[in-house]
Amino acid sequence: MRIKISQITTSDIGKELTVKGWIKTSRFSKNFGFVEINDGSQFNNFQVIVSEDLKNFEDASKLATTGASVSVSGKLVASPGKGQAFEMQAKTFDIIGLCDPETYPLQKKKHTLEFLRTIAHLRPRTNTIGAIARVRNALAWATHEFFQKRGFIYVNTPIITGSDCEGAGEMFRVSTLDAKNPPLIDGKVDFSQDYFGKETFLTVSGQLNGECYALALSDIYTFGPTFRGENSNTSRHLSEFWMIEPEMAFAELSDDMECAQSYLKHCVKTALEKCPQDMEFFDKFVEPGLIKRLQHVIESPFEHLTYTHAIDILKKAPKKFDYPVSWGIDLQSEHEKYIVEEHCKKPVILTNYPKEIKAFYMKEDADGKTVAAMDTLVAGVGEILGGSQREDNLDLLTKKMDHLGLNKENYWWYLELRKYGSVPHAGFGLGFERLVVFTTGIDNIRDAIPFPRYPKHADF
Ligand code: ATP
Repeated sequence: MRIKISQITTSDIGKELTVKGWIKTSRFSKNFGFVEINDGSQFNNFQVIVSEDLKNFEDASKLATTGASVSVSGKLVASPGKGQAFEMQAKTFDIIGLCDPETYPLQKKKHTLEFLRTIAHLRPRTNTIGAIARVRNALAWATHEFFQKRGFIYVNTPIITGSDCEGAGEMFRVSTLDAKNPPLIDGKVDFSQDYFGKETFLTVSGQLNGECYALALSDIYTFGPTFRGENSNTSRHLSEFWMIEPEMAFAELSDDMECAQSYLKHCVKTALEKCPQDMEFFDKFVEPGLIKRLQHVIESPFEHLTYTHAIDILKKAPKKFDYPVSWGIDLQSEHEKYIVEEHCKKPVILTNYPKEIKAFYMKEDADGKTVAAMDTLVAGVGEILGGSQREDNLDLLTKKMDHLGLNKENYWWYLELRKYGSVPHAGFGLGFERLVVFTTGIDNIRDAIPFPRYPKHADF
């Protein structure tokens, strides 16, 4: 029976084991060989010693090249070399799939992450992308664990939607009409003949649907794909990303902030506990000091600032920003960076934003100028999550929608939540890939998802 490399421990020394994986490196002399194997179950490779006693030694010494897949059986022995506690003395060494060293793109030399994006089908075999995949998995685990332990119900909201949730961004159209020859009415495309009998899009957020379930099940969370068609070519934006959206009934902004802070801390802690080898690698080669930074995140309470206070801090900052600061602006990345990385030096929860720059469903504060919104900003990423207490008063919500010129008919079901048994409720949305960037220290969000989609890129 095959054993995964991550499951082998020193207590297996002396036992006969079978390991399967891909060759990372191999070195052969005339009568001896060292082969490093990895099966993706952990960062560190597994060392196999091949000796000339092996029946197929000669073949193995020629064919055991980087990238080839192998099945190896033999005795586990304590390793005299440093770097590993044990190694295997191969009794059988079978090459399952050959790998031509002339053409295999992943040779020993270091490749840039930009290059690796062009071979996204092979890049999970590299140290960096393999480690990111494992940490991403640990963060997904931590997400479910956190919310499940708190009694939240996992809800799947639709991917195809008929309403723009919040004007959050440009949407991708979903249609089965013939794009070359669509049915027209008064010179315009007649969407009543489309698949759903109306215009439909890929969702930008599951929040509005999530609210329906929170107002029945109390606490819920979603964890699913969302889509933004805006032309954002930045290291923090993807066209397809995964969002986690908790929604809590009988909850206010302070509950929302507590949940966000505890959730982020739990995720970071879990990644450090579950992926120590991967996190050490990131700490050494990707962001020196990463583990210390994350430990600080776990240990210290997040800073709380109002938007108004943050604007004051920015106005007094001893530096000039490209984008001028005044009350009412949407904070730019340079502003968020200054507040988190230079001023507070820890995650910051910014609250009470001007109502004009936030979505229609957020509850207005008593001052009539700001809303009960909260964004959490972290080093290296900027905004990692955004949330709010929702407007639960039917009159106030309809007035707000009228003021913004929103078509209430499209939101009839959302408004009925306020008509029948309305309660104060709050929630947030966190971009999962931004959490991966934050936890691993990698620079670009395009490396935080297996097959990134961004403008002009939908390969693989
Ligand atoms: P930003 O201002 O950074 O573009 P946003 O204000 O549009 O973000 P929201 O609509 O509040 O973001 O979405 C909630 C969360 O989803 C954000 O806090 C962020 O973590 C994530 N997010 C939003 N847009 C993207 C994107 N294009 N790619 C990856 N994550 C995103």
